[in-house]
Amino acid sequence: MEGVREGELRERLLRPILRELKDGARDQVVVGGLENLIQNLAKPFPRLQSLFQGYGGKTPEERKEILLEAIRFLKDGLTAPPPRAQAASLPSPSRRLTPQDPAHLLVPPQSRKKLAELSLHTVRDLLHYYPRRYEDRRTLPGVRFLEDGQKATLSVKVLSKELVKTPKKGMQLVQVRAQDAWGFRITLVWFNQTWVLSQIQEGETLIVTGRVQKRNGVQLYVEHFENEGTESLSTGRIVPIYPAKEGIGQAFLRRTVHRALETALPLPDPLEPYREEHRLLPYSEALRQIHFPEDEEALKKALLRLKFDEYVLLELKALLDAGGLVLGRSFKVEETWTETFKKTLPFPLTRAQERVMAEIAQDMQSPRQMARLLQGDVGSGKTVVAAYALYLAALNGAQGALMAPTEILAKQHYQNLTRYLFPLGVRVELLLGSMTPKEREGAIERLLSGEAQVAVGTHALIQEGVGFKDLGLAVVDEEHRFGVLQRRALLKLAKVPPDVLVMSATPIPRSLALTLYGDLEVSILDEMPPGRKPVKTKVLPHRLRLQAYAFAREEVRKGHQVFVVAPAIEESEELDLKAATALYEELKGLLPEVRMALLHGRMPAREKDSVMEAFRKGEFDLLVSTTVVEVGVDIPRASLIIVENAERFGLAQLHQLRGRVGRGGLEGYAILIAGEASQKTLKRLKVLEESGDGFYIAEMDLKLRGPGELRGTRQSGYPELKLGDLSQDTEVIEQARALAKRILEMDPDLSLPQHQALKEELRAQAERIGFREVI
Ligand code: ADP
Ligand code: MG
Repeated sequence: MEGVREGELRERLLRPILRELKDGARDQVVVGGLENLIQNLAKPFPRLQSLFQGYGGKTPEERKEILLEAIRFLKDGLTAPPPRAQAASLPSPSRRLTPQDPAHLLVPPQSRKKLAELSLHTVRDLLHYYPRRYEDRRTLPGVRFLEDGQKATLSVKVLSKELVKTPKKGMQLVQVRAQDAWGFRITLVWFNQTWVLSQIQEGETLIVTGRVQKRNGVQLYVEHFENEGTESLSTGRIVPIYPAKEGIGQAFLRRTVHRALETALPLPDPLEPYREEHRLLPYSEALRQIHFPEDEEALKKALLRLKFDEYVLLELKALLDAGGLVLGRSFKVEETWTETFKKTLPFPLTRAQERVMAEIAQDMQSPRQMARLLQGDVGSGKTVVAAYALYLAALNGAQGALMAPTEILAKQHYQNLTRYLFPLGVRVELLLGSMTPKEREGAIERLLSGEAQVAVGTHALIQEGVGFKDLGLAVVDEEHRFGVLQRRALLKLAKVPPDVLVMSATPIPRSLALTLYGDLEVSILDEMPPGRKPVKTKVLPHRLRLQAYAFAREEVRKGHQVFVVAPAIEESEELDLKAATALYEELKGLLPEVRMALLHGRMPAREKDSVMEAFRKGEFDLLVSTTVVEVGVDIPRASLIIVENAERFGLAQLHQLRGRVGRGGLEGYAILIAGEASQKTLKRLKVLEESGDGFYIAEMDLKLRGPGELRGTRQSGYPELKLGDLSQDTEVIEQARALAKRILEMDPDLSLPQHQALKEELRAQAERIGFREVI
């Protein structure tokens, strides 16, 4: 009995310790510190308690030692037979291991460090340590068939080796005499790599890749070689090439991964119940094939299968993080309401608006909580769509709230919503931090009584004292500016989970939207209201930049206004400010007659708002700013935007920036100054000269720069995918997401027996897949 409980305790203690090791020994996985936990829980193990003394004060290196020691201690207790049982059964390498077991059980003690260096801590880590690429070594050519100058990979046996000095340049050559399976001779040559000599034994077989030279016999100038070793993992097949570090050989990795596969497989398939319908390779088979593929076809299927898993896990995690699929309220929607709404608008809706409105109406009718992201370029007409949703809520006797990131945007929304909704008998209230207590109390009063149906505001909406009679719909504008907590606070003002509509003006590719906002349905307004002309865009090399300001002078002379965006310097607002100030001073000298102001990220929000307000009123002509300017603000007389060091921005972000001009019927211009004018940079920026479609631009950005570099969206929110490729996988992601939803609908907390393997993977991979919470 005692033994059982002790075993359980060991396992319980192992979990946080393994997690801590994986986390880089930062002592952040346990609230209150790991030492605390050990002192409290590990009473039966004084050895462990003393090991962890002062843990919090140690360096990560020291901590890792402690952790490894602790893991060894705890594991030994688990695998060693209980005292009275047969003492002979030592853990042998052929013992079956689970994915949670430490990876070092698979290698000799002197190789443990190598695994740690590659962060391969558990058997599962090894199983998912996917090859970086593959080499087809199914048929290696014989020496006889080699041609001069050809690049080739061969399998040869070492006959002799020597170090040779070239007479002329004094180079050191390693020369190895070798022969192929048919007895044909070849000389392998390494230049100035004397260390190779010690790595090669006479009589062993090498796999060598290099350039063929036919002169005085056949020679190969070796670029890459491997000691084949005893197993045939490195030849006669499609061979995996793993990401590695210096001193860690491919043969070692192949051997170790192979052992992991042998001892851990077969594993239960996390998607067993859904395998057939999605035509997925069985899980264990996919793992085997991705490491040691039989042929290209099998490799392709394995990739697809494991990629699918990756996305399903990602979507599950996003949904679960967001609290799962929540039951909300079910609104009634009548056709005549929609007709009435349309009739009171001063313009016909775009097809995209109609489509998105239908999607929203459907969500609102469903008993499940609406969680929808509405994406659309600046000016695509998102506010009208939001007004429609708010109108539907109002007709159901519920209230709505729209939260905007700044006062100026809140005011703009207030004006627009009032314009759309007042004729329909819906009363809109504005709530701002800058209001007098009396104004504020009046507004709150009307919201509490239900006399007003809609509240528009900044985070003043979620401050003490604000309440609703019955909040049924929350709309959040420019979502990425709000913290998760603020959004939650808004939702808390409702008695039943309200429907949620998030609006974002940052166009991002659908694949990215589906993964970044895994818990949100995505609607896209991909059509501009008629009459809005695209902003004429020109990329200018740095040496011609003064032309941009000559043009600015012309525009100002016509009574138009100009934005100038100073180069953003990553990670430092202070440097940003410096650069913006320098530019501001320069422009004052250059354009003395132009009235200017400066706006930067360091200013308090209120000051920013008042600068923008003054600009809107035309109190000055040119605004120099860092990228902090609110994208949604309407400056009707702004016709030109100049962006310095445009190459530092993502295309999507630049597109969003240029959306600020030409909004009031004026012709809009954007001049992008390329500080660094490589062909690649210019080509990228020229996408903006040619296209006005935010989504196309975002796709191109993703293709040209890769997701890690996309800016203007949420930098740190990118899922770390091992196999997935967001620039290609939209379809796979859609399927994975649909499946994730179905699974949670059936089994909200993954407690059904058929989902246990999935749950286990989710738990294990949650730490691996970086993902930021939304809503
Ligand atoms: P967004 O919030 O997407 O930036 P808005 O909803 O503020 O866009 O709309 C931008 C402008 O276009 C507003 O002045 C709005 O009245 C107008 N607008 C919206 N939809 C249409 C439409 N279908 N036809 C004409 N004008 C429209
Ligand atoms: Mg807007």
